[in-house]
Amino acid sequence: MTGPANADPFEEDTAGPLATDVFVVGAGPVGLLLAGELRAAGARVTVLERLTEPTTESRASTLHARTMELLAARGLLERLGPPPPGGPGHFGGIPLDLTAADPDHPYAGQWKCPQSTLERVLGEWSRELGARLLRGHRVVGLAQRAGHVEVEVVRSDGTRVRGRAAYLVGCDGERSAVRGLAGFALAGQDAGREMLRADVAGIDIPNRRFERHPGGMATAARWPDGTTRVMVHLHGQRPDPRSRPPGFDEVVAAWATVTGEDISHGTPVWLNAFDDTSRQVTRYRRGRVLLAGDAAHLQMPVGGQALNLGLQDAADLGVKLAGRVLGRAGEDVLDSYHDSRHPVGARTLTNIRAQSFLLLGGPEVEPLRSTFGGLIGNGSVRRHLARMISGLDVPAPTVATATAGPAAAPAPDQPHLTPERNIVGRLDNKTALVTGSSRGIGRAIAVGLAAEGALVAVHYATNTEAAEETVALIEKDGGRAFPVRAELGVPGDVHQLFHGLEQGLKERTGEASLDILVNNAGATTPAGLVPEDVTLEEFERLFAINARAPFFITQRALGIIPTGGRIINISSGLTRLANPEQAPYAMTKGAIEQLSLHLARHLAPRGITVNSVAPGITDNGGPVFDIPEAVEQMAQLSAFKRVGKAEDVADVVTFLATDEARWITGAFIDATGGTLLG
Ligand code: NAP
Repeated sequence: MTGPANADPFEEDTAGPLATDVFVVGAGPVGLLLAGELRAAGARVTVLERLTEPTTESRASTLHARTMELLAARGLLERLGPPPPGGPGHFGGIPLDLTAADPDHPYAGQWKCPQSTLERVLGEWSRELGARLLRGHRVVGLAQRAGHVEVEVVRSDGTRVRGRAAYLVGCDGERSAVRGLAGFALAGQDAGREMLRADVAGIDIPNRRFERHPGGMATAARWPDGTTRVMVHLHGQRPDPRSRPPGFDEVVAAWATVTGEDISHGTPVWLNAFDDTSRQVTRYRRGRVLLAGDAAHLQMPVGGQALNLGLQDAADLGVKLAGRVLGRAGEDVLDSYHDSRHPVGARTLTNIRAQSFLLLGGPEVEPLRSTFGGLIGNGSVRRHLARMISGLDVPAPTVATATAGPAAAPAPDQPHLTPERNIVGRLDNKTALVTGSSRGIGRAIAVGLAAEGALVAVHYATNTEAAEETVALIEKDGGRAFPVRAELGVPGDVHQLFHGLEQGLKERTGEASLDILVNNAGATTPAGLVPEDVTLEEFERLFAINARAPFFITQRALGIIPTGGRIINISSGLTRLANPEQAPYAMTKGAIEQLSLHLARHLAPRGITVNSVAPGITDNGGPVFDIPEAVEQMAQLSAFKRVGKAEDVADVVTFLATDEARWITGAFIDATGGTLLG
């Protein structure tokens, strides 16, 4: 093991928090977002943080469009405030309107949020999801063993402890201990320029943005609390390889040299220096150890790119690492983290180096600044740069969604395995309600949606055992589902259904948002019931279950279905084929088709599609499908000369639920296997 050679005997922690699926080292924004992501997807995670208290420093305060998007997708924007707009952006000090990236993007531009606030909110969120945060725990050694990683930790009280996990991620910043202990190679350039930075109380100087003076560059911005952040660069001053913050006297002297102003009467609240070091680890993964954020790439913090890059690293890694830990993906998914994020990091480092020249260069860069300023006036150049800085020129990372309760406790050297499921499903992060999914076609629909990644509410009336069987079938294949009981067609039915549904969704995702509603539950008339014998009670029962309930379920769902939602109503081929014994039943199915038609028009402005799917005779596991002669007779109705399988219908419904079916609404989809061809 790498670490102190004459270490004291270590306390072993093989059952407590130091035996886990993933250690995240570092409780900055990157580590905390990663911890939440891992927990949301179902992995156990322990965060080891050297500091005993959260930092009050706000090194970075800018959020870009892609980061805002990923925070919004996790319900974190509201908890943050939400962040106010941060004004126009810049490229190396030359004004650059970041909304040029995509003026229609909901978070186009840049947004302000102190890092301390972001850390607090991410910390609360990840802990609510079940991540453990151990402060005052400094990692001093680590070793990769077959099947796990071992760490040596020194606690703030001086005691030492050893723990192990299946994987470890260093999110411990530019001076990452993990990077050194795990032997990552850093490539790149040393610093050539330095900036001093301070938050100063009690000074009253004009705000200035990247003001260039003969002696250097100065920038000043007053925070709402009255302190002023000053940043100053002295031309020609080589970076000081300092290991501690600069003295306030250094900042005062540099500020006076560049601007001629005296700020010596102010009180420094925070002092810091940074330089234009540009280095990146050659691989983001070494075996079971990975790096994210500044631990993986060191760059000058220009325009908040470092923070945003790190948060986007965490979002990309979270769902992949959780997939690996939970056995849903192979080792190669971890290399895909390197493959996707290393090039983005490299490109960001290049643009930051270019900005460093433009921003901190002396008079020799003026021609370049002037040429660049002209280029930025060109719409496509502006868009190109704004997209790159906003993170919008690479695909959005997938959102991990919450699972119920704490993750199971696998042996740390044996990540718990669930059967393989596609790591990226077409319905990942979607939620669905399938009414009547304890059995028959509904069950196949629930299984189909879950196989594509949706979290499915399995609704039923009375057959608890069958509903639990559907849930078990889904979970066996690595999917997520929960049962909801409510008898439809009786007073209070919709209320009872939504009580269970919303509670189940909130427990698992933190919110009650429903992307896909499948109105499938249905009742039929007994065989041989001719129209002359239909009673008022039977007629009303059918309408209450098959028509009234779907209407009011849909009405209630409209409050929680977001843009892009899907409503799929299960009708029947009997709306197109005469069968007198099923007249009242067919009337109810005609009613549900009308619901699809009219709601499709009504909900199109919200981007919600509404369609009807009409099965023909479909094997729902009922007793009649055990009688070969009956099956043979029914099979003759289909053009394919067989009865439908529940999956034949479920596949159509699953397709309609995906983004690929976004252009279909108000449609009647014949899923009868050609029965209506005659
Ligand atoms: P099924 O096997 O009979 O299953 C019916 C499902 O609906 C069960 O989950 C059941 O829950 C639930 N359900 C029934 N009455 C309910 C009520 N009053 N309240 C709440 N839930 C209730 O059904 P299926 O044959 O798969 O049919 C599914 C849909 O397809 C129906 O709308 C049906 O009209 C339509 N369809 C079916 C066929 C076919 O040949 N199978 C053909 C055309 C159309 P419990 O398990 O708790 O009872």
